[in-house]
Amino acid sequence: MSTGLNTSEEKREHLDIYAIFEGPQELYFGDRVQINVNLVEQITLESADGTQIKKCYISPTKRRGVERRSLIWAPTNTGALLGDVRECGIPKTCVKQDCPICAIYGAMDAGNSTLIGRLTHGGGVAIQALPPEEKQRAMHPALIARKNEESPTPFRREYNEPGLLYPNSNHFLSVTEKEFTAGAYAFLDSLARVGAGNPKGVKLFEKDNQPMLIVDRYLSPMGKRPILSPHISDTKQAIETFERLARTVHGKLYKENTIKMERFERKIGDDALVYLQTCADQFVQDHLQGS
Ligand SMILES: [Zn+2]
Repeated sequence: MSTGLNTSEEKREHLDIYAIFEGPQELYFGDRVQINVNLVEQITLESADGTQIKKCYISPTKRRGVERRSLIWAPTNTGALLGDVRECGIPKTCVKQDCPICAIYGAMDAGNSTLIGRLTHGGGVAIQALPPEEKQRAMHPALIARKNEESPTPFRREYNEPGLLYPNSNHFLSVTEKEFTAGAYAFLDSLARVGAGNPKGVKLFEKDNQPMLIVDRYLSPMGKRPILSPHISDTKQAIETFERLARTVHGKLYKENTIKMERFERKIGDDALVYLQTCADQFVQDHLQGS
């Protein structure tokens, strides 16, 4: 059986984005509601000595949803949003191979056709083992109108503490650079929108004025993958590990921020950011502001 994917005239390759996000303020990414408390998503880890720790979590599935939404809601020069122009939304995706959203995020028209997504998301477990904080919020907006109710339901919500670091990754399988531009746009645009409700948003964590960001383009996987173990809870150790993995390609340590080999290219820090920004701008020209 074939993959169902059309042959491309443009070169296909694999691309990976590795990053460490930082929450610049409290962050709410809901998991479930428990007796009037909105809980944030957490995971439980067991260490070698059997003790359990909990960590805040920005799940890859949720991040993927935020990215897809940022494409659906992208403004075009017609005054309509991209999702409306392409008649592609959630849950009803358009399932067209030339749709910049469905092409990489995948789509399904139940019983008819399916486009396999070629972008997968990973990581998201916070480095620091800092529990969420529960806060009393103003009354839920939906309840304000009920004037006759004697005791209004208190509304409490957990928040991920600010300053938590979230290592994560994005993997593009056999994409053209044109297809990748949608993912680059979604990755950058969704930074300000990660979360559910307010406040929300993350930033790229910086060290020595360089974002903790890597972009790999390759046919041959030559670099060490800068993926951090969720067991690392020490920020200094996490940053050092990320940097060491980032700078190790085919058994050698590199100082440069762009490491180029015949079938492998790695961009680190600002080099990676500028590359993503260039791709995102190309996406805007091709799909949002083009004639
Ligand atoms: Zn679509």
